[in-house]
Amino acid sequence: MPLKNFSNEKIMRLKDKVAIVTGSSSGIGKAIIERFAAEGAKVAVNYLPGGPHEKEGLDLVSRLGECALAAPGDVSKRGDVERMIGDVVAKFGRLDIAINNAGMEIKKPFLEVTDDEWNKVMTVNLFGSYLVSQVAARQMVKQGPGGKLIFISSVHEDIPFPEYTAYCASKGGIRMMMRNLAMELAPYKINCNNIAPGAIATPINQAVLDDPQAKKNAISEIPWGRFGRPEEVASVAVFLAGDESEYVTGSTYYVDGGLTQQVTTY
Ligand code: NAD
Repeated sequence: MPLKNFSNEKIMRLKDKVAIVTGSSSGIGKAIIERFAAEGAKVAVNYLPGGPHEKEGLDLVSRLGECALAAPGDVSKRGDVERMIGDVVAKFGRLDIAINNAGMEIKKPFLEVTDDEWNKVMTVNLFGSYLVSQVAARQMVKQGPGGKLIFISSVHEDIPFPEYTAYCASKGGIRMMMRNLAMELAPYKINCNNIAPGAIATPINQAVLDDPQAKKNAISEIPWGRFGRPEEVASVAVFLAGDESEYVTGSTYYVDGGLTQQVTTY
């Protein structure tokens, strides 16, 4: 693939690739779907049936037209995941890229967290990523050759976040799972990588974005001086999903305006 385009023709970096993005009717996932479609991919938009972003998902699919497929389902249920990926293969003939983006968080002091709250976060974030990765990887191995598994983890795969212990544990777990899969799936040429966003302006951060003081405090910790945009995460996803990242596996790409550098000045 040429690295530079000297003609006026736009390079379609994902032309005819088939991708599923979980939790993609809002925020980062939605931005990835829109960018992938613009890069020539065929896309499956997963959303939680009855969830707050169901209508947004259906609108997105109808706006994108033939290159898009609605994939309603709960990522933490094997039956839903197998049906969704089956539908993708039935419509588009194969699956090249699976992006584990669906996620949730519950803010609670550790001493007050209930078992149900802990299990909910771990089940959607970590177990859901395992399920989607396994079902997708089985399909990729069956169809050959190769494939791409991408995980939207978080800077909290590495840095602590008090009152979000289950969230941090789930994202740290995703980091280790991704590194393991990178080893196990290398013989099949399935690249496995994480994208770890910092503070991105999406619905998951709505409470902070709506509170001027909380927003100011958050921005004060970001060297780049602002929240990130979902499109800035999507740009890295295009690279990791495309042919130019052939030799990249087992890595985390931070998209965080420098947040993880944690400079001390005393
Ligand atoms: P978001 O809330 O808009 O996106 C999360 C999506 O996951 C929603 O559409 C939600 O409906 C969906 N979802 C939740 N449970 C699901 C389930 N069981 N099955 C299917 N879908 C489900 O927020 P976002 O910021 O776009 O989050 C996307 C990912 O990025 C998440 O994994 C989140 O942890 C991660 N992330 C976000 C930030 C940030 O600052 N926004 C930072 C680091 C990591």
